[in-house]
Amino acid sequence: MDEYTDSDWNWDFYKELVEDVEENKNIIQCISCGKCVGDCPATKVSNFNIRKIIRKVLRGDKSVLKDSDIWYCYLCERCKRVCPRDNINIPLLIINLRNESFKKGFGPKYNDLRKYVEMSERFLTNGTVLDDPLDGGLPPERMKELNEICNFARIKYVFKASKNKTKERKKKK
Ligand code: SF4
Ligand code: SF4
Repeated sequence: MDEYTDSDWNWDFYKELVEDVEENKNIIQCISCGKCVGDCPATKVSNFNIRKIIRKVLRGDKSVLKDSDIWYCYLCERCKRVCPRDNINIPLLIINLRNESFKKGFGPKYNDLRKYVEMSERFLTNGTVLDDPLDGGLPPERMKELNEICNFARIKYVFKASKNKTKERKKKK
């Protein structure tokens, strides 16, 4: 677990995010236990680490908005099931960060997002994130609900952008 002193914290970034999505004020309850990381499928295929992302937000480190890491989260909510703090909603924090990233004009860097797009495609077609699913597929109602969340999180936008890039590359050949 990381050790920090009071001077390591800067609340400006946290306050900006909470202004947009009030529920995210609860991330302050994070005890940095790392349980969410152990159960996270995105961590298994990338350097995505939600515990570190929360630390960055609480230290006011806005570099996280430029980081491709925030695009690897799959909004699957497994982390919510294992987090010892009832009110921390990690997928909502990630959506908050992605929207903020768009607003600031950073957005996704498509080359960094190949894995994310592949995962999303698997998820939207099969309901599973990994090639070998950890728990099998999701029930249809959950798929519908997550499709709506994905729309909100602009995953579809990323798909579209990624497809356009592929078309452009093909044209150039
Ligand atoms: S919602 Fe995101 S952070 Fe949580 S387990 Fe799923 S991929 Fe990991
Ligand atoms: S499981 Fe919850 S309390 Fe533990 S590091 Fe993750 S978000 Fe923080």
